[in-house]
Amino acid sequence: MTASASSIEISGVTRRFGAATVLHGISLTIAANSFHCLLGPSGCGKTTLMHLLAGLDVPDEGTIVIGGTEHTRTPAHRRPTNLVFQSGALFPHMSVRDNVAFGLRSDGLKGPALRTRVDESLELVAMGEFAGRMPATLSGGQRQRIAIARALVKRPDVLLLDEPLSALDLALQLHMRRELKRWQQETGTTFVCVTHNQAEAMEIADEISVMRAGTIEQTGSAQELYAAPETRFVAGFIGENNIFTGPGPVIDGITFPTPAADGQVLTLRPEHLRLVEAGSDDSRGGVRVDTVGFTGRTIRAGLRTGTGRELLAELPAGTPLTPGAEVGLAFDAGHVYAVPS
Ligand code: ATP
Repeated sequence: MTASASSIEISGVTRRFGAATVLHGISLTIAANSFHCLLGPSGCGKTTLMHLLAGLDVPDEGTIVIGGTEHTRTPAHRRPTNLVFQSGALFPHMSVRDNVAFGLRSDGLKGPALRTRVDESLELVAMGEFAGRMPATLSGGQRQRIAIARALVKRPDVLLLDEPLSALDLALQLHMRRELKRWQQETGTTFVCVTHNQAEAMEIADEISVMRAGTIEQTGSAQELYAAPETRFVAGFIGENNIFTGPGPVIDGITFPTPAADGQVLTLRPEHLRLVEAGSDDSRGGVRVDTVGFTGRTIRAGLRTGTGRELLAELPAGTPLTPGAEVGLAFDAGHVYAVPS
């Protein structure tokens, strides 16, 4: 069940509500047949941008081109897009099969052709056996699968997903991340997903746009954003980071190999910190171990510098650590990354 995937070009899109400007001239290109995540904290404008893509709203300025055709003002039902809401929102009085068939029936499809398309879509989301069930008898995760099957059955060029996993429990979210990625790959549809969960975005997206206060701070693959954040916000929002503010070379009692340039902060990922004997040659400053948490693969240690600053270290499981211990902090110069403050 392949769709003809479409690229999306958003150019200079601004949206105002009364006196408030919620999107400030957003420009973004999303590649066809890719999985793109709009990631950002609550209120940054993710849903507003999604509604503009879906045709539920119209920008005050700028254009939206989907698959080479301008759709800035095209109403939702005439766009090559389909939106899946957070809650799924199935028709409660219709069986699973009828829910999935609804859109195709409205388009005039019937008989064996309709049945084949619906079966295909239910198989894709592994819900074939549930065709006769009513929505009320399904779990939240199953309902969400049906909502996605109902959207994909129409073979949209672009599938828009608004926080598709946030209503599910954590174990199911982790499983569904891989499912979503598989469905995108199998259908070849362009997926655009809104989320505020950075781990989710990093796992599922080919590219992530990190949004903040109505602008896009940076777009790139998870690896690019993690290895080379261009702003302090991205450095702190994608993965975890220790951020050091000040001219250096000594910041918070830690001696850095090079000082921070004007207008920059220094960042150090938790997994790049090592603990050594206090006062040893490798030590770049003394810290106290505050908390020790075991996660299975690693130990997450909360550290406190002499100046009272908290740091996070992610250490190999089995590292012997006692809360209250005074130790030295070590790291390689190459792991210190400077970003604009
Ligand atoms: P969340 O993750 O909490 O859903 P979001 O990033 O999706 O947040 P939006 O829902 O796009 O954020 O909202 C962005 C801003 O625009 C918010 O400050 C919100 O209050 C405001 N806003 C959204 N829709 C309207 C509207 N119809 N009228 C007035 N203000 C609005």
